[in-house]
Order: sequence, then structure tokens, then C-alpha cells
Amino acid sequence: MDFFIVSGGRFKLDGGSVFGIVPKPLWEKIRPADEHNRVDMNTNCLLVRTGSSHILIDTGYGNKMAEKNRRIYGMSGTTIVDSLAAIGVKAADIDLVILSHLHFDHAGGATVSDLEGHLYPAFPEAKYVVQKGEWEDAINGYATMTSSYLEENYAPLIDQNMLTLLDGDVEVWDRIRVQITGGHTRHHQMVLIESDEATVVYAGDILPMTTHLRAAYNMAYDLFPYDSMIQKSRVLEQAASEGWIIIWDHDPNVPAGRVYHEGEGRYRFEAVSFKA
Ligand SMILES: [Zn+2]
Repeated sequence: MDFFIVSGGRFKLDGGSVFGIVPKPLWEKIRPADEHNRVDMNTNCLLVRTGSSHILIDTGYGNKMAEKNRRIYGMSGTTIVDSLAAIGVKAADIDLVILSHLHFDHAGGATVSDLEGHLYPAFPEAKYVVQKGEWEDAINGYATMTSSYLEENYAPLIDQNMLTLLDGDVEVWDRIRVQITGGHTRHHQMVLIESDEATVVYAGDILPMTTHLRAAYNMAYDLFPYDSMIQKSRVLEQAASEGWIIIWDHDPNVPAGRVYHEGEGRYRFEAVSFKA
């Protein structure tokens, strides 16, 4: 198996919403804010190549955001399709797209629009998977922010019969399984990949950045912050004891690494770089 971190676009979010209940004097020491109080984020997606198959986890925010929103979120950089092209992978090469959840910064790249505004699945040969409960919450707008779920990101997948709704913890590919975490959204899922060298875990928004290792550092968007905290500590504990590689889906600098327990629920990380 080969792993590649592929960006689905850089953006910025208000630091208060990124760090939840943590006071600014604490978080700004580790992640300085810009003049609008925003902090830098990336959308780190994971491409897994196994044999001749390509599995993509999350898709960034895509190419459909309105100019006003692009400005508000300070969006810059490439789309997932361009990032894949840069490493020689065509959209049609993707066999499976696993979505951790359907918020726009994870599912926006799942569909693309042409110049006339027609919407298409971005990966024409892929099967897309997400939890059934996440899909239901998305169409019912069950979110802390009304703009989190945008129909344009997943309606074309249903129309084209390309979206499979999962029911719980299942293996979605040989040696790749999903596990519901809840916390960030009710049916948010993480992805565990067993390679010969290590277990790689894409924890999604349960562990968004290296700055979120400590228990209280949860995003304000979390529907159930307490559940996020518990899930995060479980993942960190197992990752530290079993040498898992964690993918931080929003870290602007360190997309992957291992964690080491330093006692009393504290962890430090060391970056791991995948060959590109
Ligand atoms: Zn989210």
C-alpha cells in the first residue's frame, strides 16, 4: 500500500470556532490568528493506492464555493482533482471515495460544476460511501451552522446512484474499515487502514490538527463535544500504544504523524512523511 496526502484546498476559520472553549490567550500561542481572527487550515485528504486500486478519503471543499464565501473562508490553493493530477492520478482512476462526514470542507470536492452550473460526480468511476445517519442529518440540516451541509455536494451522487449508505462499522475495502465516532456529527466516521508497516487512521474532525491533542481542544462546530473528547482520547491512547499513524485532516503544516504518551493524558507528536 502507498499513501499520499492530497490537499482539497487551503482555507481559514475563526480561531474561536476552531478551538471551542479554549481561551484565545492559550490557543494563539500555538496557532496565531490573522487580522480577522482566522487561523490557517488545510483539507488534508488521504489517497491509498493498493495494487492497481485507488481509494480516496475526503475531498476538501471543491470548486463550487461562491466568491463571497471563498473570501470569508480565505480559500486558496488547489482542488482535490488538481492535487491528484499533480501526482499522476486521474479522477477516473479513483475506485472508492470514503467521506468521513458531509460538511462542505470534506464533501465539497465530491461533485464538480461545469461553466453552466451543471453538477457531476467528480470521480466518475467511483463508488462513494458515507454513513446512512450522516446522510439523513445532512438532508435534514442537523448542524450547528446552516451552511455546513450543502445539497450540491451530494445530491448528484444519489441521482447517479453512486452513493452507498453504510450502516455502522464495516469493512469497505480489503484492510480498510470505517468506525462511527459520533462527536463532531452524530454519525461522523473515522477510517482505519491496515498496511503491512502500520495502521493508518484518518480520524476526521475528531482530531483535526496537531494543536488539538489535549482533551479540551475541540472545535465549536462539534455537535457533541464531550463525545469528541472521549473518542479522541481513545484514538490517541491506541495510536500511542500501537504505533498508529494519524492523519490530521485540517493541520496546515503536519498532515501525518505518530503520537507518544507523556503521562496524565498528554501527548506529543512526531511528523511522518509519506513519499509523494
Ligand atoms: Zn466537519
